[in-house]
Amino acid sequence: MSEPVQERPRERIVFEAEGASDGPVVLVCAALHGNEVDGLLAAEAVADAIDPRQLRGRLVVFVGNRGAHAGGQRYLERDLNRAFTETRGELWRRGELGREAEDGEQREILELLAQRVPSDGTRAVLLDLHSTSGGGPPFAVFGDTRANRRIGLALGIPAILGLEEAIDGTLLEFLARRGHVAVCVEGGKIGEPQTRELLEDALWVALVEAGSLRASAVSGLSAARARLRAAAGELPRVLEIRHRHALRAEQAFRMRPGWKGFDRVARGTALADDAAGAVRSPEDGFLLMPLYQARGDDGFFLAREVRSIWLRVSTALRALRIDRLVPLLPGVTRDAEEPETLLADPRIARWWTVEIFHLLGYRRQRARHALLAFSRRRPGHLPALPLR
Ligand SMILES: [Zn+2]
Repeated sequence: MSEPVQERPRERIVFEAEGASDGPVVLVCAALHGNEVDGLLAAEAVADAIDPRQLRGRLVVFVGNRGAHAGGQRYLERDLNRAFTETRGELWRRGELGREAEDGEQREILELLAQRVPSDGTRAVLLDLHSTSGGGPPFAVFGDTRANRRIGLALGIPAILGLEEAIDGTLLEFLARRGHVAVCVEGGKIGEPQTRELLEDALWVALVEAGSLRASAVSGLSAARARLRAAAGELPRVLEIRHRHALRAEQAFRMRPGWKGFDRVARGTALADDAAGAVRSPEDGFLLMPLYQARGDDGFFLAREVRSIWLRVSTALRALRIDRLVPLLPGVTRDAEEPETLLADPRIARWWTVEIFHLLGYRRQRARHALLAFSRRRPGHLPALPLR
């Protein structure tokens, strides 16, 4: 890895255009992790190539972490893509975000989004572009809603569900929780030419799927789709996160060399070392985002395939509003104050209750006293909320 070079920070907004006809507000975020330059290069290339007369609605491309980007770092004081928690959102609304480097970045991003996210209940679309230190095939990350699936699955690369259960405070989740469409694309290894190219391809496809551009207005669209499919190869279309290896500074975590995203690992495989010895895979699965840089809170993730039959079953069950019957299951009640939350009593609930919850989109799991609380996103038919 080369030494970070301090440059002058880029402007926050690198491109903004209003199309000739009505259409969605699409916000493209790049370099939310400052050293992940590939998404910014891709977004600038796409913005340069767009004919504004063909654009529908508004397109905004912005730099996530300007300071860290100028310094060639993932972040300066805190990981900005873990900072978009509800607590910090509330501090921002009260004008009380602090004075650390990333506080200023977050304040500016939230102001920018609050100005552009529609306040009339229509959904904005966030496309958040990333790349990884470990490399591997590209993939998309999004919360399991129908609106997200429409863009996320159209990219033709593996889709990862359930990451929001494993990590808190992503920008993606902050917007998704307010009913907006939010899809993250991980393009591959930081700094490799193919990563930038695949992110560019994904952006063209996403802009067409979001309704910003007609397919006929994008000359290389089928080639872009073909490159994305080829990069995905024989990998599963949809996977869900099963495990996150969380890090603390004193653990001296070191990934063992040679791993990359989507490597298949067996339970018990030694993947890394830390102060306590070898770190082994707790189960069989696909390795995701192995950490090969100094900064980061996640050592690696493990995911497993979600078979397409289950995706279809879950779509059908949700359309039938089967979830209304779920509180009839033993040990399950609906939270009186949060209708999108179900409470399960582990002493009474059957072992398959969690599988049913997942099928119906209740994925986020927290302990609440002796109960387990499972929440899902606001269903798609409700209007989206403004940020303030
Ligand atoms: Zn990133």
